[in-house]
Order: sequence, then structure tokens, then C-alpha cells
Amino acid sequence: MDTITQPYKNWSNALYRLTYDEWLEKYQPIKNNLSTYSFETYGDELEYVLQQDDKNVWTEMEGMEGISIVNGYHLVNRLCYYITVKPWTKDVEIPISIDKQCDCMSEGDAKIDCGECGGVGYMTFYIDTREELEMIYGPQDV
Ligand SMILES: [Zn+2]
Repeated sequence: MDTITQPYKNWSNALYRLTYDEWLEKYQPIKNNLSTYSFETYGDELEYVLQQDDKNVWTEMEGMEGISIVNGYHLVNRLCYYITVKPWTKDVEIPISIDKQCDCMSEGDAKIDCGECGGVGYMTFYIDTREELEMIYGPQDV
């Protein structure tokens, strides 16, 4: 994580961010029939999501900069849904991972034999702790 030195652009426009663990504790997602928190984007699980109040629904989505969970039901770039016991009351983003451009991309194309990124041009960082969250997005008003 120490290669990230500046805050990233916020693609979801949320002003308020939590780590996944903080979100679990605060909003209390329920489990589906398979005892996982994530609900599918099709079939019976989607039907169940659509029956919920939007304020209890969250969408995990893949954006340009990585993967985040955001409040509310969204279609675009969705990966799965969550349903929480506690409703959201404002825009919240739970960043799961971000993709950082590799230094080898500064010369145009990724180097096929790059030792840092393996030739894909970016590296994925997973955000687990508040320290990592604030290193990337700056201090959060919690
Ligand atoms: Zn590289």
C-alpha cells in the first residue's frame, strides 16, 4: 500500500466511506439461503432483493477504479446485492479494492515482462483497514 501517495477520484460521489468490517457491524447484512451475504443479480435472489425497501439494499459494483459496495439498488456494473437490517440514511461507499496504474504504463503500453504488474498495466489493492482507506481517500468524516 505504500506506493499510493494521493487520494483517488471518487467515482461514486459518496462523501462517507467505511471499511467492509465497519459496514458489517454498522448495517448488519443478512445472509441468503446459502449462508453468504451476497445476493445474485438474477432469479429468486434478485426477486427477493427487489421486494426490499431500497434503503436496506446495497449494490456491489465494478467501476473504472475498482470494486465498491454502494447504498441503494443499481443496475450498471453490478456484481451482486446486499440486504441490511439497518437502513442507510445517506450515501455511503465501501471500497473493496482499487486498481492502481503501474509505473510501467507511463511509457505508453504496459511492459509484457513487468515485474510489478505482470504485464497487465495495473495492480489491485484490497482495502481492509481504516488506515488503508484513509491513505487512499483521505480522512473520512465518520
Ligand atoms: Zn507494470
